[in-house]
Amino acid sequence: QAKQEARNGRRFFNPRMQARVLEYVALASDMRKGLEDGEFIPYYQPQVDAAGKLVGFELLIRWHHGRRGIIAPADFIPVAEDNGQIIELGRQVLDAAGAQLARWRHQPGLKDLTLAVNISARQLHQADFVDQVGQVIQRHRIDASLLKLELTESMLLEDVDDSIDKMMRLRVLGVRFALDDFGTGYSSLSYLKRLPLDQLKIDKSFVRDLLTDPYDADIARTIVSLARGLGLEVIAEGVETREQRDCLASYGCGAYQGYFYGRPVPIEQLDPVALLNRGAL
Ligand code: C2E
Ligand code: MG
Ligand code: MG
Ligand code: MG
Repeated sequence: QAKQEARNGRRFFNPRMQARVLEYVALASDMRKGLEDGEFIPYYQPQVDAAGKLVGFELLIRWHHGRRGIIAPADFIPVAEDNGQIIELGRQVLDAAGAQLARWRHQPGLKDLTLAVNISARQLHQADFVDQVGQVIQRHRIDASLLKLELTESMLLEDVDDSIDKMMRLRVLGVRFALDDFGTGYSSLSYLKRLPLDQLKIDKSFVRDLLTDPYDADIARTIVSLARGLGLEVIAEGVETREQRDCLASYGCGAYQGYFYGRPVPIEQLDPVALLNRGAL
């Protein structure tokens, strides 16, 4: 058995690699039809403030594939970024976000809920991205300040000048920005100051072992004080336990997201009114 594995491992193009390439090709070719057929479904995960009160959601997309079942973003976002379909997917996601904000706007108690949307590099750097977002805001008549775009350091660094230009123009419309997965990239304080950000999002990799790994705890604490120093909000993602929340709270973290508060769910399973009335967790 071990011998067999060693032999496979030495082959340049082993069966596992081959399976992955075939999988990739299959997903890429299913994607166009999936986009036409509305197979990409928004899921919503709650975000709460320091007092545990619901303040909004992050939209996380899932592919409800006809034959394969539900596919996670990690398995298809890179494919979509590669083959360019992220542009169409991104349009659908933004439109879904606008439509959802518009619905909440007319429901008692829900009109102030924010919605965070993940944006890919190729999407942001499209020539007409600012217009696209502007059209979503107009079409759905939403309050732009409730729409938060989640960007990452690495995508901003691909073209810092274009990123800042787009962000400034979107900010004029009222749109807000979070820096996702913060701490995992090449954070440079000098460019952080130039970006019109509203929020830093502590990456879940620092939250996971917060209570056992002093290095992760140091990073989380440093991000919180950095955010404070820059006048930004800070939210921790991947909060799974009360102990993690309490630890982050002791650092002064202002908002939380994670399984402790709720998993991402499709709209039929979401009850924002119940979440609002649940009281502080
Ligand atoms: P992200 O934006 O950093 O989202 C956070 C991820 O952590 C999500 O994974 C979420 O389901 C997961 N998560 C939330 N709470 C917990 C927790 O308590 N514990 C653990 N272990 N995980 C938690 P998901 O939904 O699989 O999404 C993965 C990534 O895919 C996202 O990371 C984002 O970068 C990307 N993505 C998702 N939806 C979209 C989209 O509509 N457009 C684009 N461009 N990217 C998307
Ligand atoms: Mg995100
Ligand atoms: Mg993240
Ligand atoms: Mg991420």
